[in-house]
Amino acid sequence: MVNVESEKMAHGAKFDARGCPIMPPDLSAFDSISISFIDPYERCPVCNSGDLTSSHALDLNSEARVQWSRCRDCGLTFQNPRLSETSLRALYEHADYFGLHSNKNRAGAYADFLAFDPMRIKQGHRRITRIVELSGVRGGRLLDVASASGFFGVAARDAGFEVTCIEPHAEMAALGHEKYGLAFMVAQMEDCAFVPESYDIVTIWGAEGLFLHPVRSIQKLVDALRPGGILALNYHTHDHWIRRIFPRLMRGWNVVYTHTNRSFDTVLGKLKMELIAREIEWQTVTVDHVGRVLRITTSSHLKHVIVRVPVISMPLAVARKRES
Ligand SMILES: [Zn+2]
Repeated sequence: MVNVESEKMAHGAKFDARGCPIMPPDLSAFDSISISFIDPYERCPVCNSGDLTSSHALDLNSEARVQWSRCRDCGLTFQNPRLSETSLRALYEHADYFGLHSNKNRAGAYADFLAFDPMRIKQGHRRITRIVELSGVRGGRLLDVASASGFFGVAARDAGFEVTCIEPHAEMAALGHEKYGLAFMVAQMEDCAFVPESYDIVTIWGAEGLFLHPVRSIQKLVDALRPGGILALNYHTHDHWIRRIFPRLMRGWNVVYTHTNRSFDTVLGKLKMELIAREIEWQTVTVDHVGRVLRITTSSHLKHVIVRVPVISMPLAVARKRES
């Protein structure tokens, strides 16, 4: 499954003057986009430590290099300076995130994406069952953030929840709304207005780390939870040994920050959330998906093969909002 050539390339990364790896530009399609950044962070956005070190960098085009810092105290790795909201939006638009436009036949591309939804929905059923088991919250309003087609929303609705999805990709949201009849907010999560304390559960799958700020963005979601409400998500852990084998894991331009368990727990503490469980999940995915996550090339005959893998570097975390 692992293409040895692409792994060699990953190990052959160049290094900058401080010895930090610079990933080769693989996105020359971004040449036409003008890239801007916010002011650099002088302190860690999670724990406020000033003990920061360079982590890695990625050339987006001949002009723009995105750099990540690492906090030596809590271990958070974060874009520093972070790409501006305008640049992130332009990049997402340009990048064809769901691969819908790579196929000239638009309807065909949608069908392709949806072909694997039954598998994602099945995974969703396992997830919502586990969340209910762990939290004791058996029904009510559930907000699913970065929903794509709404596959998890379908599973949560089947389990008896009243579901709202958020998906900034308008075409994907329209597709999910049409196909499953789910309610979608079509916006970046940070631009949504939520009624305070109005949700029983908030879920985020595969998107923690893509928000604008590791504390303030999540705060917004916690504010939308009722006291005793549940935040359930998965997140990549930056310091996992698997990164030694797949160094390009979670190094895309859209990764704003990557947690360690320590930085994640610091965020929960700041937001008055109590961790109920952190556990390894098994996911049912296509070989193609594994390749994209690990940023390796997979053989084209194996692309659509379905495998069940333990996602060892990406725990499921379930946390409860304190009552007072
Ligand atoms: Zn820190």
